[in-house]
Amino acid sequence: MRYNVDPKQQAIRDFVKDFAEKEINPVCRDLDRVPEKFPVEYYRKLGKAGLIGFAMPKEYGGGGHSNIEYITLIEELAYYDAPTALLAAVPELAVYPIIHFASDEQKNKYLPKCTTGEIIPAFALTERMAGSDAANQQTIARIEGNEFVINGEKIFIMHGDACDVAVLFCRIGDEASERPKVSAIIVESKTPGFKGFTLKHKMGMRAATTGRIELKDCRVPVSNQLGEIGKGFRYAMATLDGARIGVAAQGVGIAQRALDESISYAKSRIAFGAPIAKLQAIQWMIADMATQLEAARLMTYKAAQLQDKGEKFSLEASQAKLFASEASRFCVDRAMQIHAGYGYIGEFSIIEKLYRDQRVTEIYEGTSEVQRLVIAGTYLR
Ligand SMILES: Cc1cc2nc3c(=O)[nH]c(=O)nc-3n(C[C@H](O)[C@H](O)[C@H](O)COP(=O)(O)OP(=O)(O)OC[C@H]3O[C@@H](n4cnc5c(N)ncnc54)[C@H](O)[C@@H]3O)c2cc1C
Repeated sequence: MRYNVDPKQQAIRDFVKDFAEKEINPVCRDLDRVPEKFPVEYYRKLGKAGLIGFAMPKEYGGGGHSNIEYITLIEELAYYDAPTALLAAVPELAVYPIIHFASDEQKNKYLPKCTTGEIIPAFALTERMAGSDAANQQTIARIEGNEFVINGEKIFIMHGDACDVAVLFCRIGDEASERPKVSAIIVESKTPGFKGFTLKHKMGMRAATTGRIELKDCRVPVSNQLGEIGKGFRYAMATLDGARIGVAAQGVGIAQRALDESISYAKSRIAFGAPIAKLQAIQWMIADMATQLEAARLMTYKAAQLQDKGEKFSLEASQAKLFASEASRFCVDRAMQIHAGYGYIGEFSIIEKLYRDQRVTEIYEGTSEVQRLVIAGTYLR
């Protein structure tokens, strides 16, 4: 029932299925429950299997895959375990500004180690006063001689507690202005004054940790500036455009899993002497889930195809992210209803985990409201 799957995409799906059986399924429930600690060994395993750096350029050791192939990977990983998809997606997000806007020296220094999973990169944009209003950066880099002296705090940063290097967005040297120009600096976490903390009690996506970064008189060479001063917001938004398609793909993978689990459960659960799949109430839920999922997948792959063709895709990325994340909420919710008690208790099924993992797809990389702003803004321009 998959539309337009070419042999390369099929090979990726087969590879992930095989990898999941051996490496993901045996550990993903434990990674969800126990740690609130970045799973370094697991991340390196993903790196060795080529799942980190999948879409990064081949010349730096990446997989060099197209966007369509990359979202196939993300969808398929999310089907088995959404946090594993996130572990693979975060480095792509974090290094996008390096690939597209950094100097050759910076690319050569960081990319080859990011593509293999040897070092962990983070994308540090959000602050307490700069969430949806991402341009309102309060973190400041003062210029002193050949150094930036950085002070501020970043919050909700994927892998911010474990990263080796962060692409950090901040204002450079314009402490006075109210709406600062945003710039980007590459900061290594071993630099004195850089401290990452794990944020506790996250609802879902627990294997891929989320952190807070404190910067206190953190000194880095001015040569770590990424691209041009004042262009950081543009770099961040360009990065998020592509990343939104990845989040849509997470939603599609989660929704497909919710549907498959529901179909199989509905056929086997007996109530009133017959499988609940015979009940029209259940059939209509399955029909609505399948239809939402199909639309979400088509929008997601269309956006990725436009990106691969080098055409404008911001609008389609926002639409795909908005629709697929909300469709996946619909699907996990219906799956919970179909499984009833056996969905609510994690001992019996994966539905409660899907329910928790799904929710953040409507929040990160721009909330649903922000996607609606982008979409309406495009149509009303
Ligand atoms: C698990 C997780 C991982 C994350 N990973 C990263 C990361 O790696 N790097 C990073 O930089 N950030 C990351 N984020 C941050 C994420 O992108 C922000 O949480 C998100 O952009 C929303 O910002 P906020 O939480 O401050 O909400 P706010 O901006 O405070 O929004 C609160 C509410 O107001 C609504 N709202 C705000 N402005 C408008 C508006 N103009 N119109 C309509 N509604 C509006 C929002 O939609 C929301 O409903 C992550 C967040 C989470 C939860």
